Amino acid sequence: MTTVTRFAPSPTGRLHVGNIRTALHNWMLAKQAGGRFLLRIDDTDAERSREEYVEAIRSDLAWLGIEPEGEKRQSQRLATYDAAFERLREAGRVYPCYETAQELDLKRKVLLGRGLPPIYDRGALKLSDAERAAKEAEGTAPHWRFKLDHDAPIEWDDGVRGKQHFDPAALSDPVVRRADGSWLYMLPSAVDDIDMGVTDVLRGEDHVSNTAVQLQMFSALGSEPPRFAHEALLVGREGKLSKRLGSLGCDAFREKGIEPDALVALLARLGTSLPVEPIADRQVLLDSFDLSTFGRAPAKFDDAELERINTAIVHQMSYADVQERLPAGMDEAGWRAVQPNLSTVGEAGEWWRLVTGPIDQLEFSAEDRAFLAQAANLLSWGDDPWHQLTGALKEATGRKGKPLFLPLRQALTGMDHGPDMKELLPLIGEAEARARLAHASLHG
Ligand code: GLU
Repeated sequence: MTTVTRFAPSPTGRLHVGNIRTALHNWMLAKQAGGRFLLRIDDTDAERSREEYVEAIRSDLAWLGIEPEGEKRQSQRLATYDAAFERLREAGRVYPCYETAQELDLKRKVLLGRGLPPIYDRGALKLSDAERAAKEAEGTAPHWRFKLDHDAPIEWDDGVRGKQHFDPAALSDPVVRRADGSWLYMLPSAVDDIDMGVTDVLRGEDHVSNTAVQLQMFSALGSEPPRFAHEALLVGREGKLSKRLGSLGCDAFREKGIEPDALVALLARLGTSLPVEPIADRQVLLDSFDLSTFGRAPAKFDDAELERINTAIVHQMSYADVQERLPAGMDEAGWRAVQPNLSTVGEAGEWWRLVTGPIDQLEFSAEDRAFLAQAANLLSWGDDPWHQLTGALKEATGRKGKPLFLPLRQALTGMDHGPDMKELLPLIGEAEARARLAHASLHG
């Protein structure tokens, strides 16, 4: 059977690093098996869902290179949910409830006060027909709960957590539909997973108890459930799911010069027993992807680690990969010259300025000025002008090491450090190099 996974964000905000990780892992799970990865927009909450977020989700996934092969939207499938709901209602698996939020709150408090778990007491199931009719006559519209089967223990073999067991009597019958007819997440999600042919649901461990309930929904709807796996949550270096992490999305990463391949390489393996490495080749990541390597402890996201991976990824990128993002006129030799000095592609422009000028004018001692005048004279052009120049100067002046190299670099680039001069000097060109040396020898 073809593996089908889905990523099911609610478009109530931008994707953050935690959702990105879930999306990526679902994509990997599908791709590794030659299957399909789908996007499902969970937009039943009409008030909080926004079209701009739907678009942002699509473009973030495109930026990451984890594009889905199909998309469904819950807001377009309401009739399907109605039909499933009717079937469950006829089978007595959903029932109307009339308690107000305050009444429910009070019930919870009483139970908690007695040291009991705050499980819904199924009060609505105990109403007589007459009591129910009276509620309706008062104009109280019911909300609806799914009736868990207390005689069917809930078990599954979780792809990450192993054998899971839940006693249905220890869970509240979940509300599936509000009094205004709108849907809560749980039932539409199960209906969609069935209709979309989802074979594997991989999501955060905050959904474990939802899975327990949804397993009974699958069987009440007459379907085999998908396989489930729940990954440990992502936390910041400080050890908790911080606000900062929750707001860290593709835009923020892009602005900082983080490459999608770096983010993917990190998130693919973070929280697993596999080493996090700067692997740009997705196939390599896919080949090693394995749910059994996922740990149960929270995965720690560390910006410094991402930056390290990013630098290493940038150092692997070919000219073709970056060409469109480089300053005008910067050719392949230019890219090669500056690449080892970059931690982001954006920095290429700063280094390229050393080639195109104008460069900063530094101050030189009288002695160095004389040395630079000599350099301007000795400059000759061949295959390797930098070694020709430094070789000739070494012989003529006896200088070596830093006193030989540093004033040259400073005069030629206006900086103390930077890309390899052997690569840079040919790009600066003979006339410009001579002019810079001469200028420094006069005006330093
Ligand atoms: N919309 C749900 C969420 O974002 C989906 C959970 C799931 O993957 O089933 O939490």
